[in-house]
Amino acid sequence: MDLLKINISELANAIKNKKISSVEATEFFLKRINTHDKKLNSFISINDKAVEQAKLIDDKISKGENLGSMAGVPISIKDMLCTKNLKTTAGSKMLSNFIPPYDSTVVARLKQAGAVILGKTNLDEFAMGSSNETSFYGPVKNPWNTAYVAGGSSGGSASAQAARFGMGTIGTDTGGSIRQPASFCGVVGLKPTYGRVSRYGIVAYASSLDQAGPITNSVADAALMLEVISGHDQNDGTTSQRSVPNFSHLLNACDSKNLQSLKNLKIGVIKEYMKGGGLCEDTNATFNAALDAAKKLGAEIVEVSIDMSEHAVPMYYLIAASEASSNLARYDGVRFGHRASFENLSGIELDKFYSRNRGEGFGSEVQRRIMIGTYALSSGYYDAYYNKACQVRRLLTNQFINAFKQCDVIASPVTATPAFKIGERISDPLKMYLNDIFTTSTNLAGLPGMSVPFGLSKDKLPIGVQLTAGHFAEEKMLKVASALEANTTVTGVLPHDFN
Ligand code: GLN
Repeated sequence: MDLLKINISELANAIKNKKISSVEATEFFLKRINTHDKKLNSFISINDKAVEQAKLIDDKISKGENLGSMAGVPISIKDMLCTKNLKTTAGSKMLSNFIPPYDSTVVARLKQAGAVILGKTNLDEFAMGSSNETSFYGPVKNPWNTAYVAGGSSGGSASAQAARFGMGTIGTDTGGSIRQPASFCGVVGLKPTYGRVSRYGIVAYASSLDQAGPITNSVADAALMLEVISGHDQNDGTTSQRSVPNFSHLLNACDSKNLQSLKNLKIGVIKEYMKGGGLCEDTNATFNAALDAAKKLGAEIVEVSIDMSEHAVPMYYLIAASEASSNLARYDGVRFGHRASFENLSGIELDKFYSRNRGEGFGSEVQRRIMIGTYALSSGYYDAYYNKACQVRRLLTNQFINAFKQCDVIASPVTATPAFKIGERISDPLKMYLNDIFTTSTNLAGLPGMSVPFGLSKDKLPIGVQLTAGHFAEEKMLKVASALEANTTVTGVLPHDFN
């Protein structure tokens, strides 16, 4: 059995039918990580109990116990989600020795479904970044070309998944952090509707925008993992009470060989995205090829206008930084986080004590966000900046709601260019922020979004296409994604050094 080619449900079935054990599958991936991750730096920690946990699953299967849909399937988790007894750093020195006493709901649900956790993946510090270069644990490299970034902030997850260091992984997306690295690394990445997935136990960055979601090698795998992690959670009051559709089942209903009919489906293209985004030639060509493929399958392409999306980046960076400045206040070296070494605490003034703890514990990008956020929330500026951004956010959301009266799914590029070189943009924060031009609107409006691999650049770097649907309409997005997946030559292609 080729573990690099099969999907999650095939492996779960093979384990259930004892064609392979969970221990064998787990050892296979641990060995792969051990041999190849030096080149990528995609993991921060490995779960040294993984094989033991796989053995427990195998034992239960031997006893004939009926386990969940991911029984015995090895996966990784972004180091932003709390894992019981397994270090969770958020990519920061601040939390470099934090061992959570509990699992985040997402992790608990994956374990409940039988998944085995291989380890925790690298990320931008506190998920702030678009290139995975702000991590305290060093930059993550792109498996397609290690001189290039993997994207951020879930760069470790996307890089690990592209290199097949597991069957799937979980990322978080506040302004594009699942979709953008997925696009850069040639894997599928899905950000659910806000409220679909519990944020309980996920290190908070910007609470009104954060969502966790799967990064996988196929659309079917993303659907399956989404199903496992979704649903109401009494520990997160912002989760929806809606029942969770059987996403993977819905997908099976439209067989890929059948040239999935996208008939009666309208795909919207945002007029404003196409005029101002500065798309590079390769990205533009990939995007047009995806639209052509959808048209051939019967979809109708319609133009929609969302002019508020032109303000998405400033709106996002005000709101995200404001919420971050509040969320990160807890890391003061007393309640949580790094404590600087003081020879004698008794003579230290309180503000010096905090500023040393926080100055040492946080990296420069995180400090920048805290400063911007604190400023935007301060009295006198609150109405001009934070409040104004929230008002414009409402207008943007309304425009999306209207647009989805004219179309079922919106397609767009994920980023203006494929992955860029490590070091190329990190010294210019504004340039880096502009990278998020196509992804942040989705979070601001609370919509689901995903990236599906659809092309390769001339330099052989992957390029994804972004799909967005109305609130809680993930199944529409998955349907188009799986049709695109079935109609491109890049599906299932591995980076050459990781074959
Ligand atoms: N690049 C964006 C930021 O730095 C998005 C990050 C994310 O989605 N976590 O805030």
